[in-house]
Amino acid sequence: MNRAVVAALVLLCAVAPRAQSRTQVVMLGTGTPNADPDRFGPAVAIVVDGVSYLVDAGVGVVRRAAAAERAGIPALAPAKLKRAFITHLHSDHTLGLADLILSPWVLERDAPLEIAGPRGLRSMVDHLLAAYAEDLKIRTTGGEPAHRHDPTVVRVLETSPGVIFRDERVVVTAFPVKHGSWEQAFGFRFQTADRTIVISGDTGPDSRIEEQCRECDVLVHEVYSEAGFAKREPEWQAYHARYHTSSRQLAAIAKRTRPGLLVLYHQLIWSSTEDELLKEVRSAYDGKIVSAKDLDVY
Ligand SMILES: [Zn+2]
Ligand SMILES: [Zn+2]
Repeated sequence: MNRAVVAALVLLCAVAPRAQSRTQVVMLGTGTPNADPDRFGPAVAIVVDGVSYLVDAGVGVVRRAAAAERAGIPALAPAKLKRAFITHLHSDHTLGLADLILSPWVLERDAPLEIAGPRGLRSMVDHLLAAYAEDLKIRTTGGEPAHRHDPTVVRVLETSPGVIFRDERVVVTAFPVKHGSWEQAFGFRFQTADRTIVISGDTGPDSRIEEQCRECDVLVHEVYSEAGFAKREPEWQAYHARYHTSSRQLAAIAKRTRPGLLVLYHQLIWSSTEDELLKEVRSAYDGKIVSAKDLDVY
């Protein structure tokens, strides 16, 4: 093979979309409670052999999935969103839950949504269904053709740490993380035929993430900027330090775990910038890093 062909192949491999991999990580929403119009609420899709598994349901999750479908990932067509895992019940991670339960159902999803998450998820879902009781009644009895036969919209599993799901494509492990005063907050590990992906959810620095990500291919981890943090008020600093992970703390975690790719998401940047945030992590970690934007695919 001549040198030009080798160079072209190297370049192709460097930029090749993950479409060639059996497992893709699709960043549907990378946001936080901040109402950043460029970042929808937290939601990540793991797509394996054409089937999607969602983590969290932030604001706009179904619209973002539809955008990913339009960009070439058919597994994220709204009617195909059938399975989700919820890290914890903070509103930024669950404001899209009604959307995820109901919109695909209206669009003729052919099975109920199956969701697993921490204690309290069932009550949250029951309240949402109660809030939409009139909608459910009209759609199932008011002549709409789609829902005459199976009005079940959602099935909920409140879960404990451990392997919480497996099928022929993926094994999903839930592990506890330390997120301030939450009694239960999870990170998730997805093991597929070709990749291991660990998603931190919201967490302070936690060695249990490191245990899950030994030699993992992709670590999707929340982070806040130390420069932005320095300009916050002391009360907020105390809060953020209890609930979240700083750029320097994340660099130390990455150094110990050496993921194939470190993906920053749920970036709390405040008055700093995304470039500055990346610089902060890079100053103490020399592995491969990206700061995710909505609809990025890895
Ligand atoms: Zn959050
Ligand atoms: Zn949270």
